[in-house]
Amino acid sequence: MSAPAAAAFRVETATGLLIGVRQVLSPHFNARPPQTPPELIVVHGISLPPGQFGGPWIDRLFTGTLPWDEHPYCKQIEGLRASSHVVITRDGALTQYVPFGERAWHAGVSEYRTRTGCNDFSIGVELEGADETPYTDAQYGALTELIAALLNAYPSLAPEHIVGHSDVAPGRKSDPGPAFEWPRLRALLRARLQPQA
Ligand SMILES: [Zn+2]
Repeated sequence: MSAPAAAAFRVETATGLLIGVRQVLSPHFNARPPQTPPELIVVHGISLPPGQFGGPWIDRLFTGTLPWDEHPYCKQIEGLRASSHVVITRDGALTQYVPFGERAWHAGVSEYRTRTGCNDFSIGVELEGADETPYTDAQYGALTELIAALLNAYPSLAPEHIVGHSDVAPGRKSDPGPAFEWPRLRALLRARLQPQA
């Protein structure tokens, strides 16, 4: 038996933080229900304003500091209190907003295999993107490494339990959209999780 490939990211389970990754603490979180470990990974797509990449607006949304009155698109989502555990920007860089042991506010009204309220038992990962715009190679690579680190840290997670926001909130949410290549992620994960010869 050989050891699996070294992880690019490591989760410190005592704190629920990703080591060596940009941290921006969001006030938008609360405790998971008792005895509720993360069992699901929810992949999202996000851009602010929609379809535009870069800029401080995702940070500002998740930290509750969007200038609602300055931009029409801010006005549209005024008062929205949202967060996600991690955002992966177009260049593949990660920012963590909520420790994995805590409950981030990313899924909203949602259901996974008859279990409602997915925020209780999931980890939310946002890819900076839009439904119809191809996600970047760097994002697929970073997402794969992040999922590998999460699977390593939390035995309650499993590669079979990774879904899109649209899967747990059908009709209400469309992200990460048709542009997200699920077969590509599955193939990358299979290769990544395979014990090395
Ligand atoms: Zn979403």
